[in-house]
Amino acid sequence: LYDIASTDNAQVARGERFGANLKLSYKAPVMLLRGWRNYLYDQYGRTYLDAYNNVPHVGHAHPRLQAIAARQLQMINTNTRYLHPAQIKFADSLRARLPDHLDHFYFLTSGSEANELALRLARAHTGQKHMIVQDHGYHGHTTGTIDISPYKFNGPGGEGAPDWVEVVEVADPYRGKFGYDDPCAGAKYAASVDDSIAAIDKKGAGLAGFIAESFPSVGGQIIPPEGYLKEVYARVRKAGGVCIADEVQTGLGRLGSVYWGFEQQDASPDMVVLGKPIGNGHPIGVVATTKAIADSFVNGMEFFSTFGGTTLACLIGAEVLDIIDDEDLQKNAETIGHHLLDGYRILQDKYQIVGDVRGMGLFTGIELVTDPAIKTPATHLAGYVSNRLRAHRILIGTDGPWDNVLKIRPPLTIDHKDADLLLTRLDSVLHEAQIINDV
Ligand code: PMP
Repeated sequence: LYDIASTDNAQVARGERFGANLKLSYKAPVMLLRGWRNYLYDQYGRTYLDAYNNVPHVGHAHPRLQAIAARQLQMINTNTRYLHPAQIKFADSLRARLPDHLDHFYFLTSGSEANELALRLARAHTGQKHMIVQDHGYHGHTTGTIDISPYKFNGPGGEGAPDWVEVVEVADPYRGKFGYDDPCAGAKYAASVDDSIAAIDKKGAGLAGFIAESFPSVGGQIIPPEGYLKEVYARVRKAGGVCIADEVQTGLGRLGSVYWGFEQQDASPDMVVLGKPIGNGHPIGVVATTKAIADSFVNGMEFFSTFGGTTLACLIGAEVLDIIDDEDLQKNAETIGHHLLDGYRILQDKYQIVGDVRGMGLFTGIELVTDPAIKTPATHLAGYVSNRLRAHRILIGTDGPWDNVLKIRPPLTIDHKDADLLLTRLDSVLHEAQIINDV
């Protein structure tokens, strides 16, 4: 298996076998052969601190998930056309953690697939086609989800917004027109949704729904002002649409003080979409919705996904939810998240290139700028910092419309000692980046 142990050879082999838009992270890509909690190990056995991956939510290679997979694969792993108690178990585990009205579930294999289905459900329920989406949002790589993802349709290779999609601005208190100092910023940003509703009306069309990440992650780890989503949802519902919360990145306790992003916004969605962390690496997507919406979807056409809701997927999903509770990982996200944010703020005081520091729990971002007064995005410096940290064997990412936001969202198992290592290294690498900016 490991004939291609050299990273150079592996890169050449990839180039000969896969399309060039399959990207690698870092200028010096890493080959990772093992994982454990929030650590990764390369082909030489060297350790990396994983401060980036949100999929291994309860940590890489969790022994409880290994045990379940090993046992279940010896018994049976089949689909939802047959009865199995695991289906009920997973649905009930989700039910216990979601608002009461979200009590019907669809099991799928990815976030993209789940968002694609959420789109169909919204249309089936409302009988309308048009969607309102948030700028820079990302909801998946399929044809339908690219159409609701400005990050893709307005990015390289994109073809712009389809005629059934309206884009609202991100409620970004750092860069947007209503700042941190405006106590009414949430309501003011939300009011702009009315322009999209009016635009749909003008076309003589109707609104199917609104979809957004509860906190924009691909948009740059943004914490929307208080009450923003609640107000948006009210306006969307008044116009006849349903509200979809993409909680792929923000759900399941990552935010620390709340289990779901929409809770922090005092908002109550009609559909919640889950992906990546719910399977901790096993491919699982979920749409949670109301009975009324599920009923509207019963139109004679069967709903079936071969690998959505397999026996093993249901058992793993339910186990991930239990592990989060048993290991108190939501609390850990809150504690370590505070510690990291305090540390980032000290670095912000030290380095002018740190324009903004934000986050909740282990959903955090540091926005780099070349000039704090005019907030010029420092894309090159963000790339520099992430590559230099990689050289120190600490993995983070970059994101946002200008790719100038350091994205730090580790598995929820990260502890104080790991966080301190990250902060120490970040300090020295930001020091280098500040010098690059100053010369
Ligand atoms: N929604 C969000 C917010 C995501 O971050 C992602 C994946 N990055 C998706 C949807 C798509 O999920 P998947 O890659 O599992 O299809």
